[in-house]
Amino acid sequence: MQNKNYNTVKRRLSIVTIVTIVTGILGILSILEVARGVRFHESNIQHLALTSRLKDKVDSLHSHSTKDINEVRQLLEQIRIEPAACLNSMNDVLVVGLKMLGTIGIRDICKEDLRQLDMATAYLKRYEMNVLDWDSFILEFDKITTVLHQHSLDFRPPVSRTLNFLLLVAGIMILLKAFTVTLVSMYSSRSIMRHFNSLLGMENQLRVKNDELNLSINELELQKTELEVAQQLAEHNSLHDSLTELPNRRYLENTISSYLNDDKELAIYHIGIDGLKQINDTKGHNAGDHVLCHTATELKRISDEKHFISRVGGDEFVVVQLLESDSSHYKSIEQFAAFLVDTLGKPISYRGFSSRMSVSVGIAVRDRITGLDMDYSSMLINADLALYRSKTNGRNGYAFYDAKLHAEMAGKKEIADQIQSGLTRSEFIPYFQPQFASGSFQLTGVEALVRWQHPTRGTVFPDEFLPVAEEMGVIGEIDQQVFEKAFEYFESWQSMGIKVPRLSVNVSYKRLTDQSLLNQLEKFDIGKGQLSFEILETTLLDNTDNASRVILESLTEMGIELELDDFGSGHASILALLELKPDRFKIDRQLISNMHESASQKALVRSIIDIGKSLDLEVIAEGIECIEHAKMLEEMGCNMLQGYYFSKPISNEHFIEFVTQKKWLDAA
Ligand code: C2E
Ligand code: CA
Ligand code: CA
Repeated sequence: MQNKNYNTVKRRLSIVTIVTIVTGILGILSILEVARGVRFHESNIQHLALTSRLKDKVDSLHSHSTKDINEVRQLLEQIRIEPAACLNSMNDVLVVGLKMLGTIGIRDICKEDLRQLDMATAYLKRYEMNVLDWDSFILEFDKITTVLHQHSLDFRPPVSRTLNFLLLVAGIMILLKAFTVTLVSMYSSRSIMRHFNSLLGMENQLRVKNDELNLSINELELQKTELEVAQQLAEHNSLHDSLTELPNRRYLENTISSYLNDDKELAIYHIGIDGLKQINDTKGHNAGDHVLCHTATELKRISDEKHFISRVGGDEFVVVQLLESDSSHYKSIEQFAAFLVDTLGKPISYRGFSSRMSVSVGIAVRDRITGLDMDYSSMLINADLALYRSKTNGRNGYAFYDAKLHAEMAGKKEIADQIQSGLTRSEFIPYFQPQFASGSFQLTGVEALVRWQHPTRGTVFPDEFLPVAEEMGVIGEIDQQVFEKAFEYFESWQSMGIKVPRLSVNVSYKRLTDQSLLNQLEKFDIGKGQLSFEILETTLLDNTDNASRVILESLTEMGIELELDDFGSGHASILALLELKPDRFKIDRQLISNMHESASQKALVRSIIDIGKSLDLEVIAEGIECIEHAKMLEEMGCNMLQGYYFSKPISNEHFIEFVTQKKWLDAA
């Protein structure tokens, strides 16, 4: 559209230019012709004057003096100039023009003039040569001058007419030029206006486009800010705990490490809420969350700019305190720890119920005076160890990571190192304790129990090394080694014709949540019901997370049975039963041990067995040390029995001997 307008304007402007040039040229040509006409007119006047002079001269010629004759000749020559010039300038165009105007007679007049002049010259010559007498000469000359004079007069009207015509043409040209210029300019200006308007339209469109662009730029900027906010939020979330909004472990580690880089002296308070698990179990997770938020609020309230507060795990918080650089701060650390225990240990109310609360605090101090100069990860580990110590000291208190704990830890570290090498040398082997059906005393299975064949100390019992192994995170590997060997023996018994229906192995939480457990198990040809995993209810309740649930389900799918160990030793056994849905449970040995002396204990065992019956679960009792135990339990309906009464845990060789010789029947 714009292009069309532009082309129209261009075309019209070209026409204006061409018309202006053409009419201009024509006008100029006409004016030039007018000028020529005017010159003709002028020379005609001169011609007239000259012919008049010639006439007068001839009239006054009385003598034929040479001077007079010469003068006449000169005059003749002068008169000749005009018609000669006129004829000379007569080109084809002029001839056509003069013909059209009907003034071509001019040319004939000129020609006639020249002829007359030639005749006059000839008469003059003849007179001089005395061929012609004076009177004839004068007569002839007189005729000629009269003709010439008449011609001069005749010449004027056509010249004037031509001149007028030329003037008319010039005028018309100028008018035409003015007219066309005006006309075309008018058209052009209309096109220009139209073009201008369309340009204005375009400008408006551009403005609208520009506004739209600005709008989208604004939108983009908005999105950018939103993104930035989201990014900040993500950053915030990656460094904060979502429940309490406190900095998380990552943030804490960064902070401690930057403090230590700046060579600041600090104390780390690792706070554990005692019994949060119970609150979660008995009052629900909302109540637990309430306790955590309350603790976070209290910590914020009592802290100042010297403190950095964070939540590092389920029921654990860490406070980092910057210390003044004097030696008296040990006392103030103790005071702050006591203050923490006191403040956070106050009962809190939730939905009208008041809950008793207590916290334990483990403290690690980075202090060059005590010589315990540590990096941030050891500081955190040490504070955690001190917390553990505080909990084992009876909770609701605080404990320092100090030289004593340090030495103890060093001892544990040594054991841990030995465990590591024990693992590489396969020093962990299974002992076997058989299990029997009550009443018939048929062998129903065997429990594998670990023993450490220590190179210098001989046989070491699990109580001595398992807690350390657990603390050091290697218990899963021990379990694996024990299982692999036990299952190897179990298979060898079958090939030897020794019928042992089931092998039970103890499984730590560490192993139960090990992602490679299922892969490891797949390498073994485990028949359905041949293998049973004994799980402690504490393990189970501590970690009812999804990952272990999935593993438990996969184990069931693989035909591996689950057994709840030490049933009755904890406080939430029924919950554990409902949660795990095991194939059987094992009554804790403590309950069995004084059953035959205490009526209440006996009643308790009876009701536990009843629970098993009502839930359609098998019940096994361990710690059977005498025949009374066996009889009572049989009478109560307990399915299986295990204990020293039948056999202590024994090595593979002894077990083979024991089964082949049916030694338990001696006891029975
Ligand atoms: P547990 O699973 O409850 O194992 C039964 C413990 O009671 C065994 O102690 C066994 O020797 C002992 N016991 C069996 N019958 C009687 C009895 O009539 N009277 C008395 N006083 N004790 C009896 P052990 O072998 O010292 O094992 C201690 C604990 O160590 C086990 O308790 C189990 O929790 C753990 N454990 C043993 N082996 C392994 C293992 O391979 N892996 C894991 N994760 N834990 C294991
Ligand atoms: Ca067990
Ligand atoms: Ca047990």
